[in-house]
Amino acid sequence: EMKDNTVIIVFGASGDLAKKKTFPALFGLFRQGFLPPDVKIVGYARTKMERDDFCARAVSYIKNAQNDAEITASIGKFKDLLSYVTGSYDDGAGFDALDVHLKDIEAKYTSKDRNRLFYFALPPNVFVTVAKNIKEHCYAEPGVNRIIVEKPFGKDLDSARELLSSLKQYWSEEETYRIDHYLGKEMVKNILVLRFANVTVGGIWDKSHISNVQITFKEPFGTEGRGGYFDSFGIIRDVLQNHLLQVLSILTMERPVSFSAEDIRDEKVKVLRSIPPITREDTLLGQYVGADGKPGYLEDETVPRGSVCPTFAATTLWINNPRWEGVPFILKAGKALNEAKVEVRIQFKDVTQGIFDDITRNELVIRIQPSEAIYLKMNAKTPGLQTRAMATEMDLTYNRRFADAKIPEAYEALILDALQGDHSNFVRHDELDVAWKIFTPILHWIDGTSGTRPSPVGYAYGSRGPAELNAFVERYGYQRTNSSYEWPVTKLG
Ligand code: NAP
Ligand code: NAP
Repeated sequence: EMKDNTVIIVFGASGDLAKKKTFPALFGLFRQGFLPPDVKIVGYARTKMERDDFCARAVSYIKNAQNDAEITASIGKFKDLLSYVTGSYDDGAGFDALDVHLKDIEAKYTSKDRNRLFYFALPPNVFVTVAKNIKEHCYAEPGVNRIIVEKPFGKDLDSARELLSSLKQYWSEEETYRIDHYLGKEMVKNILVLRFANVTVGGIWDKSHISNVQITFKEPFGTEGRGGYFDSFGIIRDVLQNHLLQVLSILTMERPVSFSAEDIRDEKVKVLRSIPPITREDTLLGQYVGADGKPGYLEDETVPRGSVCPTFAATTLWINNPRWEGVPFILKAGKALNEAKVEVRIQFKDVTQGIFDDITRNELVIRIQPSEAIYLKMNAKTPGLQTRAMATEMDLTYNRRFADAKIPEAYEALILDALQGDHSNFVRHDELDVAWKIFTPILHWIDGTSGTRPSPVGYAYGSRGPAELNAFVERYGYQRTNSSYEWPVTKLG
């Protein structure tokens, strides 16, 4: 266990991820008393910075709009934990200097154990060099050493395998924590409890009851000047192949023998292995065009001219096992849409015909963000003297039901897991491999490596996506809830 005598080293500490996610998450853990006693945090990057500048950068995204005195004091104490080392990623000398700095910190520790958690907030082209240099110059013995890495893990099956095996030369699976930050989200973690702690949910979780499932990611903005990075990946690599597929695996896996990391991941891998590669026929690709003064994707100057990169994709996956045979799982994600939302929408089958006309299907919606909620759209008698069914809901809205609870940030939950040595919410190597197997054929089609590239259909910035979307989801059996359903927001606030 990594308890006392721990140093957390953030590589790429001058970058965007470090500033926006890593340091704020470390601060959140610190403030809530979850960091090990005597912990120190060291930033490392090529940019030359004085310690004060580094500290100012590291705390720049910590939320304290009201200038709360307690938070301000905590930020001050947090800064005391920080130091910064300048060095390159490919030169052993920089890592030797880092090691000297770490040993200085560790000299004050009482026990011999020196525990080091290395966080890669770095672009993937330096992952392997940095992994090698840490192993050769900064590996602490005796002690626990761990690395945290984040997507992109390759661009297709072959490149992912190459990256994985390169990293494996230096770091064991046990020492490696691969982040998919969706696994740190409260509502994603909740899926296992919802499914396996409720007879009512567990009992209807199969092809006999469920007609179709949609896992949806919607973002209301486009690339807005960061299109260069995005264009070489596209929406499928950015969102579907990792985040949405992770949600799908948790939603559909069999009950694990226990909640241990390997038991959970064994089941996730098993269900993913039952999914054949996605076909072209089961894929709808879109790219946003300018509307209402908002620029289209191709008008972003950082996007290559004439790019056919999809900024929207809907794909349908099938699971070849007895529980899920024939149930379509639609993963869909897009940029520059009409709203910000990530949700799972499970639509149940029709009730047996005969006694009702025009009855709405049940739908269970798990809203992952924003404003976490679980609601079951169901039918009830219209209150009053007439006997008529109406669509209504059973609702668990988190901010009403758990008004005082603080829902942790995904990165807080995951860094804490890594400190505690819990791999449950990290991606295992074989999970990654099978995820790429499912997506690589359509990605190669989209990239043009297997012939002519498909052209995405246009959709207006700020719309729900391509006009073809409604027909696409209907093809897989989705029926839109009848228009009589209304959510009484105004009454409940
Ligand atoms: P970034 O800001 O572009 O890069 C982080 C740091 O790495 C930079 O400050 C720079 O530090 C160094 N660097 C940049 N380009 C480099 C290059 N070509 N060669 C060597 N060093 C380079 O990246 P990021 O946005 O923080 O993302 C880091 C990783 O997290 C990436 O793998 C990204 O895909 C992933 N990620 C990011 C976010 C996010 O919100 N930003 C979200 C999810 C995942 P120095 O020049 O000072 O050394
Ligand atoms: P909804 O927003 O009506 O969407 C339902 C489904 O229909 C989604 O799959 C959506 O697709 C699709 N859709 C939306 N507009 C469409 C259109 N014009 N044509 C064809 N398809 C369309 O969601 P809902 O679950 O029925 O809920 C209605 C509202 O009540 C939502 O705003 C919801 O947040 C709110 N509500 C909130 C709670 C709560 O906070 N606890 C509980 C119940 C309901 P896309 O997602 O792809 O757009």
